[in-house]
Amino acid sequence: MTWLDLPADTLFGLDNLPYGVFSHGERTRRAGVAVGDQVLDLTAAAEGESFGRLLGAGVLNPLLAAGPDIWADVRVRVREWLSEPRHADRIRPHLVPRNEITSHLPVEVADYVDFYSSEQHAINASRIFTGGDDLVPANWKHLPIGYHGRAGTVVASGTPVIRPAGQRKPRKATQPSFGAAKRLDFEAEVGFVVGVGSELGAPVPIDEFPRHVFGVCLVNDWSARDLQGWESQPLGPFLGKSFATSMSPWLVPLAALKHARVPQPAQDPEPFEYLRAAEPWSLDLTLEIRINGRLVSSPPFATQYWTGAQQFAHLTVNGASLRTGDLYASGTVTGPAKDQRGSLLELSWGGREPLAVGEETRTFLEDGDEVVITASAPGPGGARIGFGEVRGTVAPAVV
Ligand code: MN
Repeated sequence: MTWLDLPADTLFGLDNLPYGVFSHGERTRRAGVAVGDQVLDLTAAAEGESFGRLLGAGVLNPLLAAGPDIWADVRVRVREWLSEPRHADRIRPHLVPRNEITSHLPVEVADYVDFYSSEQHAINASRIFTGGDDLVPANWKHLPIGYHGRAGTVVASGTPVIRPAGQRKPRKATQPSFGAAKRLDFEAEVGFVVGVGSELGAPVPIDEFPRHVFGVCLVNDWSARDLQGWESQPLGPFLGKSFATSMSPWLVPLAALKHARVPQPAQDPEPFEYLRAAEPWSLDLTLEIRINGRLVSSPPFATQYWTGAQQFAHLTVNGASLRTGDLYASGTVTGPAKDQRGSLLELSWGGREPLAVGEETRTFLEDGDEVVITASAPGPGGARIGFGEVRGTVAPAVV
């Protein structure tokens, strides 16, 4: 029930209420909550509330740092405001049309980590690069493989992605060359944002996941495959990834995803104790990837081998600490079917099988190409929980 005029099929109903940071006219860098086709100016609406002081920073970090009891309080209050008619007159002036806002990064990103947790993606990558059969690395089923990315180049959805330049050496070339990347790619991923940090030297148990992780977003881990291939021997991804990582504007709180929980796929071998949750679950998100408006893939998140909670536990098992605003991404989400692949590397099978995009074909991204990743998940009573989108357009290299 609500006094709001919500579209019947909205992905932003009262069971979602994701948080972001937006500007609209004289409202600059406000905390906002998406509802229906509108955004609630939470910074303004919360004036006079005890938690109002957490909402004036232009980023959500103070709210995230406040912890799960405060997160629950704010969510209850926002729901009351948007549902009980006695609040309508006070709240209505704080609503603005969502299609008129400018979205910003929702958090100041502290550290950024990217994992590699889709088994099908790991298998595909192995087949594409080695021509081998189903070979994933020997460590793959024992630990969630990841690398440290570059937090300072995580950008808001809509920020142009400038084609990077760098060194590359095609397999048949005898010498490396320098220039604009020719094999620019996207990776459709799900991101987890840490609210409450932890102490250096104190591993955080896996079942503490919901007390530290605030919410979930979408991530595009843009990747220059030719730069990555030459520089990653023997260390991991570096300049082939660090030129830009796009993040969606809305953080969907874990509290909105209770109905999206599904059993985790079986793990064999059984993981080490620190990776075993008391009640393991995956999230039943369906992603959609569009290139220039054409749907090219619908990767399912539920079948990821390693869950967000396992990645969380792995991050600190060596004593490394968490910080408010840490972002860690799932790794490319890829399902078993051809139209469930989460990167062009896979969709064009290393460039050998051009992908149809409307009337055109693509092996890798061309200048001017726009990539949009969206997702939704089951909510209560048949409703869907929307994640909005992460969008980016390829701009020409500057070299
Ligand atoms: Mn990635």
